Amino acid sequence: MATAQAPIMTVETTGCCIAGGGPAGAMLGLLLARRGVPVTLLEMHRDFDREFRGDTVHPSTLEILDQIGLAERVHELRNSKVSAPTLLTTRGPFTPFDLSRLKTKYPYILMVHQKDLLNLLTEEAKKYPGFHLVMGANVTELVREDGVVRGVQYQTDDGAHEVRALLTVGADGRFSRVRLLAGIDPVRTSPPMDVLWFRLPHLPEDIDAPGGAFGGFARGHILGGFDRKDYWQAAFVIPKGSYQSLRAEGIDGLRRRIVEVEPRLAKHVESLRDWQQVSLLSVESSRCLQWWTPGLLLIGDAAHAMSPVGGLGINYAVQDAVVAANLLAKPLLDGRITTGQLRAVQRKRQWPVRIIQAFQTQLPKRVIATALRAQEQQGLSVPWFVRAATRIPILRDIPPRIMALGVFRVRVED
Ligand SMILES: Cc1cc2nc3c(=O)[nH]c(=O)nc-3n(C[C@H](O)[C@H](O)[C@H](O)COP(=O)(O)OP(=O)(O)OC[C@H]3O[C@@H](n4cnc5c(N)ncnc54)[C@H](O)[C@@H]3O)c2cc1C
Repeated sequence: MATAQAPIMTVETTGCCIAGGGPAGAMLGLLLARRGVPVTLLEMHRDFDREFRGDTVHPSTLEILDQIGLAERVHELRNSKVSAPTLLTTRGPFTPFDLSRLKTKYPYILMVHQKDLLNLLTEEAKKYPGFHLVMGANVTELVREDGVVRGVQYQTDDGAHEVRALLTVGADGRFSRVRLLAGIDPVRTSPPMDVLWFRLPHLPEDIDAPGGAFGGFARGHILGGFDRKDYWQAAFVIPKGSYQSLRAEGIDGLRRRIVEVEPRLAKHVESLRDWQQVSLLSVESSRCLQWWTPGLLLIGDAAHAMSPVGGLGINYAVQDAVVAANLLAKPLLDGRITTGQLRAVQRKRQWPVRIIQAFQTQLPKRVIATALRAQEQQGLSVPWFVRAATRIPILRDIPPRIMALGVFRVRVED
């Protein structure tokens, strides 16, 4: 790791330096580059092909991609669609939401590998001369002048480098180093669950999931599966902190518990042979009280890590990027960024984030925690009022609309 004393091999100057090439950083880089702002995007990994990070592209993000002319290309990527998942409950199949009724050009969640989405965004950004992507660039320090952040230092295989910028953006995810260096400490809440993600094969004796997904509960675990055409992307929700004891039981224990929830997966789970096939998402929800310091803005998971309920993290990161680009592209082109402008980005985004995080907190408390505690129960019944709400036309589309399209619709301004 570089230190402040490491000799700096190159110094580059740009308009906006973005640390982190996830959905937030890649989208912001593209949007600013489209507006003619010089951008340097620094990504720690050498490529975007890492372990599973989620792949739910919601209608809100599809609409944004449509506005910038990328909707067709994202649909050309290997994908599958989820519109109305089915949960298997004690009282039979239950469909918690149906996106096909929403007023949008894209009434479904498009399941796309995150690496494909990030490659698409960054390849598009590279068409603009002011965009510079550095892979394998680990941001290690902030450059400060008179209390204002003026860029970063980063480490690559060949040594330490510096980027000086009018604006530095920390889009480096839930464990953000930029946030740490800026001295911003998020408020954390810890939902009562963790999630194991893994793939299961499609087999002739397969699960029927007409809406593109299925789900079920049993004996303190929740299982969800998303049809990815050539495999199932499965999520196994476990009580928080139980991963180590589950792991100690060996992969056989995990296979057995999956089959307890969904006996029709008895053959599918034979493909799980090693814990390396399983990604752990330690579920955390957090938000920073302040998303900025002079010269620096945090967006995406760095500003607010979302719980996986609703698959919103990618989409909220993308919406942050759109709002940041809308509000900051012109000041960046004019060569002056004020703290008022950074505060405006936070003001516009913090309420949608807080509303969704409140919903994401209540659902685990009321439904998921009960399911995870139900050690002896073979299944869980969905409360009558939830069932009723999903049948009343005026009520049933409100939660899916908020989940799919955002609390407020976000549009790209040119
Ligand atoms: C296992 C798992 C499953 C998930 N499933 C879903 C899902 O189904 N749907 C959904 O919407 N969300 C899901 N999420 C959450 C989602 O991945 C995040 O909310 C979303 O990616 C946030 O985007 P971001 O750009 O803010 O941060 P990230 O995607 O975390 O991107 C941050 C980037 O910064 C880079 N970085 C970190 N430190 C540095 C550094 N020092 N220097 C340079 N680069 C750095 C990282 O390598 C990374 O590429 C999941 C997360 C996990 C871990």
